[in-house]
Amino acid sequence: MEITFLGTGIMGAPMARHIAQAGYAVTAWNRTAEKARPLAEHGVRVVEDPAEAAKDADVVVTMLTDGEAVEDVMAEAAPAAKEGAIWWQASTVGVSGTEAFVALAEDHGLTLVDAPVLGTKGPAEAGELVVLASGPNAAIETLTPLFEAVGSKLLTFREVPGRASNFKLVMNHWVLALTNAIAETIAFAEGVDINPACFLDTIADGPLDVGYAQMKGPGMIGSDLPVAFPLKHALKDADLILEAGDRHALDLVLAQAVRERLVAAAVEGHGDQDMGMVVAAARATSAR
Ligand code: NAP
Repeated sequence: MEITFLGTGIMGAPMARHIAQAGYAVTAWNRTAEKARPLAEHGVRVVEDPAEAAKDADVVVTMLTDGEAVEDVMAEAAPAAKEGAIWWQASTVGVSGTEAFVALAEDHGLTLVDAPVLGTKGPAEAGELVVLASGPNAAIETLTPLFEAVGSKLLTFREVPGRASNFKLVMNHWVLALTNAIAETIAFAEGVDINPACFLDTIADGPLDVGYAQMKGPGMIGSDLPVAFPLKHALKDADLILEAGDRHALDLVLAQAVRERLVAAAVEGHGDQDMGMVVAAARATSAR
């Protein structure tokens, strides 16, 4: 199978590398070409435009920022793709984004598999993502060796694309809530003159502990976090969560509060930094 990757950012680049290392012919395109070029060292063919990237592919993978980026890139790639090719849509675009892409795939004779991933930069680099897949069973079966190349676990949902994206939003609701709870607890501790490291030490290994707090907390306290998940993408996901909640008439008060904090952090200039930098907005709010 010939595999094409459209988007070689934090997640797309290591995923393309793992698939090439598993022995597949991989072609990659990225808007900022220099981000894709290092993949050539791993046998990936790097090309200059999405249409050229897609034209011989049996599988086209999109791993781009959001629905708008996927729409822009597939406007060029889809008409060039082979009839019957599978489109693995891996970006987090929510349910309405996925619905629009089902229609786009049909227009171009492609089979859409809605398969976003759980895990961040580290698991992507290690080939240990969790892949969530919904779509036609035969297409999921065809993609399974690729899922195994990038991940350590596959969860499949009903045949209807959108189910996997809904589950992805459920998981991101948890991640965003947790990150914001850690951030606000740190800012609260600092605000009442308690060393926030005491909070992490005190929960360690007990029933209130959570691995994510121990992993992210020290970097949040020191405002020193390598970018694993850009804060602006977390804000995009908060919007997708609230949109999904609205569709089902759910009042997601916590997600709304999380969104407000993320907006404040983005306005303060932390959008391209790691999501954990939401702590800066929590500190600013506490200081008011
Ligand atoms: P990233 O490093 O910011 O990469 C985003 C990619 O999208 C880059 O290739 C970027 O191109 C491209 N792009 C953005 N807008 C574009 C446009 N209008 N036209 C063409 N290309 C465009 O992000 P990432 O972390 O890899 O995330 C990719 C997707 O995976 C997102 O939907 C994210 O929510 C999801 N995700 C991320 C994580 C994580 O922890 N990072 C985990 C699970 C899922 P340039 O290089 O030119 O900017």
